[in-house]
Amino acid sequence: MTVVDQSDVDVEVARLSGLVEGWVSVPGQERYATARRTFNGLLDRRPVLAVSCRTVDDVRRALESATRLDLPVSVRGGGHSVAGHGVGADSLLVDLSLMRDVAVDPVARRARVAGGAVWNDVDPATQSHGLAVPGGTFGDTGVGGLTLGGGIGWLIGTGGLTCDNLVRAELVTPAGEVVVAGQDGDPELLWALRGGGGNFGVVTSFEMALHERGPMFGGRLLFDIQDTAEVLDGIADLMRDAPDELVIQSAVRVGVGHTQPGCGVLFAYAGPPEDARRYADAVRRLAVPVSDDLRVMSYQDVQGMNGLLPFGLRHYWSGHFVTDLHPETVSAVCERLEQTPGLNTILLEPLTGLARRIDPETAAFPAREARWNVTGLGIWSDPSHDDEHVSWSRSISQAVAPWSLLGGGYSNYAAHDVPPGRAQTMFGTERWTRLREVKRRHDPTNVLRYNANITA
Ligand SMILES: Cc1cc2nc3c(=O)[nH]c(=O)nc-3n(C[C@H](O)[C@H](O)[C@H](O)COP(=O)(O)OP(=O)(O)OC[C@H]3O[C@@H](n4cnc5c(N)ncnc54)[C@H](O)[C@@H]3O)c2cc1C
Repeated sequence: MTVVDQSDVDVEVARLSGLVEGWVSVPGQERYATARRTFNGLLDRRPVLAVSCRTVDDVRRALESATRLDLPVSVRGGGHSVAGHGVGADSLLVDLSLMRDVAVDPVARRARVAGGAVWNDVDPATQSHGLAVPGGTFGDTGVGGLTLGGGIGWLIGTGGLTCDNLVRAELVTPAGEVVVAGQDGDPELLWALRGGGGNFGVVTSFEMALHERGPMFGGRLLFDIQDTAEVLDGIADLMRDAPDELVIQSAVRVGVGHTQPGCGVLFAYAGPPEDARRYADAVRRLAVPVSDDLRVMSYQDVQGMNGLLPFGLRHYWSGHFVTDLHPETVSAVCERLEQTPGLNTILLEPLTGLARRIDPETAAFPAREARWNVTGLGIWSDPSHDDEHVSWSRSISQAVAPWSLLGGGYSNYAAHDVPPGRAQTMFGTERWTRLREVKRRHDPTNVLRYNANITA
């Protein structure tokens, strides 16, 4: 725990308040409560002070204050990290939720996205030009954390991971220096930002590649929970030879709760609807769907398929990138369907198409060769059930561990108690060495440590 003299904090708060265009807040204030809001109700982290920034200069000043107070810095983008990485206990919190501008250049096919934007800021702005950034599947998750950790979504097959579309970034380093990641700045830093997390600086601007994106064929099918094994085996077969346009995820809802349990199949086809129909019919033939709303829809409707999850529920997510969904992998998952303590979800996301073909050397993201990301999403509200849900989520991870590509899951889904050495294991020796070099250059004293931490 960081020990800091309260009178030093008061002096810094008074000084900063007169300088920043955003605002500074401390415990007890309403703005502080808003700034430190995190998605996961399991966590309750209290920074020493929060600086809600409006400009790059605000960010620079906040980082200078952290240096004066000798405080580590946490950076909140959309606040969705299940590990609660966006808000660090005893840190100076740089809250980016006021920095959400999106500027689209349809001719250059680039979007400049401010560091605290969420997908609901990006998608309408890009879609008004018939374009899209391959993003995440929930509108209120942050572009920041999602891009820096990888980014798995509906356009992964035709557009790659979100981080593959990051072509340039502007950062403020803990030393208060503004640096550019990319061809006109530090290309190795750009490589590190594509999957290496928020380890190197506060990204104030993400420049993203845009793709043409008209209407899609998509929607949701629900199958009876008893049909889960047939359905998962079937979609694993389909995805092995899938065209780039096809992405099929599955969300298996188990147990009892406000939503009907069942094997959910989420379907998105980024090509002509007439081509999509044969894959849709192949899914429909796997078992008899309980419901089926597949249809032509706008990209924004595809992005809205999952709806939103409210902040404040309790979350413990655990899983693995797996080499494939073999019938034995599916059986191992299905053995856990009966053992759930309440309503939970097993999420199966394919890595497919372009995301698997892009040269792995272009990004720090380590799991491109996986075919699926399988995660037990423990989601509940009653604190007295914490242990049961945590164990259930871990049991999903244990079930698929024999097929794990890297011995761990997606860093963007990691829980708060993942052991510190996990990042090193996931990146492997070569990537880890490169990432450490970049870390040493930009954050040698590990001021930015609330992330999948790369220790310099
Ligand atoms: C409901 C839900 C749905 C999700 N859906 C998807 C999905 O479809 N695909 C997918 O790939 N992932 C998904 N995720 C995971 C998501 O990618 C991570 O939770 C990610 O961390 C969210 O980013 P954030 O900016 O909202 O998080 P935060 O909690 O704000 O930050 C997470 C990490 O990123 C760092 N960070 C954020 N912004 C910046 C910045 N500008 N500069 C430097 N560091 C920064 C933070 O310091 C922290 O370490 C989902 C998560 C949730 C909870």
